[in-house]
Amino acid sequence: MIELRGSFAPVVMNCGQALFSAGIPKIETSGIPAKTGTAAHEALAMWVNGERNIDTEAIALHYGVDPKEVKILLGLGVKLWEGVLARDHGHGGKVNTEQRLEVMIGDIARLTGTADVLSVKVVPNGVTVAYVDDWKTGRLFKSYREQLGLYALIVWYKLGLQSGDKVQVRTVWVREAGSSADAIETEIFTERDIADYASKIHKYAQAAIAGKSADVPYSPGEHCMSCPRLGTCEAHSLSARKMLTTIGWKGTFKEVDMKATVEAIAKSGRLNEALQAAKDVGKIADNFISEVKTYVRVNGPVPIADKPGKALAMCDKSRTTVDTLEAWPVLKEHFDAEQMASVVTVSLTKVKEEAGAIASHGEKGKAAMSIVEQLDNAGALRKFMYQEMRAVNYDPPKPSDIF
Ligand code: SF4
Repeated sequence: MIELRGSFAPVVMNCGQALFSAGIPKIETSGIPAKTGTAAHEALAMWVNGERNIDTEAIALHYGVDPKEVKILLGLGVKLWEGVLARDHGHGGKVNTEQRLEVMIGDIARLTGTADVLSVKVVPNGVTVAYVDDWKTGRLFKSYREQLGLYALIVWYKLGLQSGDKVQVRTVWVREAGSSADAIETEIFTERDIADYASKIHKYAQAAIAGKSADVPYSPGEHCMSCPRLGTCEAHSLSARKMLTTIGWKGTFKEVDMKATVEAIAKSGRLNEALQAAKDVGKIADNFISEVKTYVRVNGPVPIADKPGKALAMCDKSRTTVDTLEAWPVLKEHFDAEQMASVVTVSLTKVKEEAGAIASHGEKGKAAMSIVEQLDNAGALRKFMYQEMRAVNYDPPKPSDIF
């Protein structure tokens, strides 16, 4: 039998060959970002359940993470919950939090996941709509439709939904609460979507159990970065080699005239493709470096063959950071306002977050806007223009526009 967790779904749904790995990767739960996320989820679940005196300090202490960050994440999540999310769950029914979900597809695949917020509404024409929200407290910003599809599928089977019913799943990027348009990605799944997901999973699971690798196509892409087969997968390394060739690699980058390469690729109309290839190569390199560090950390010093007596090793280093709150009185004693300004950096995002977090319920957005206005009136805000590169809609000029 195949076990498939929601967190692994984006990889498997993009490339069924990922199921042919020796093991499904574990979710990272020991690092500070993961623990902070768990603490924030716990606090948000309490809020959704009606608790208003949430001791974020105690929760943070329990998980060994920064209480300020948990408080800020709760404040941001609450802003999204009260401003947008709660409305869809406000139909008088029970709102479930941290709901463990599990279903079987046939008797060959067990699907599991946790719905952070789940409620069900039956609309007057008898259609059932299940609402699922998934808090994301990380800084990543990418579409999780495949993962959400798996949640939708589990909810569909679990609730025994029928033709015409729907599952609405929203990814909620808590840190982006400043703009609910950016912070909430909504996906609606119907019977047809669910059937597609189920048949795909069934097909992959059947092939994986029977060891029929040839029945499942390889589909390399960004999702490879989370695949346990990365590093040994031929399809992925072939695609990586193709990417390198696209950006002009011929064994070494030393001989490549980058300016001429960019000009030539731009003329061929494949600059965006080459740019993605360069980004992917960068990601592969980052991943490789991180794996090397893990290897050296776990196995100890690794001798360098062409440098006798030398080895790669992880060495302790120390870095000192300054606690602004503790440092403040000391700095004030020595520096005037101008000098203070040159050593302290103020983040507008953090100012807004803090103003929102300390304001009373329903006043958070107003408090954040008010402090920004006051800063602006005091001449404290400096606006500057910058450029970012991205794909945009484009109508090429017609010859008649040019001549
Ligand atoms: S590394 Fe990429 S292409 Fe290879 S099995 Fe994994 S997801 Fe598929």
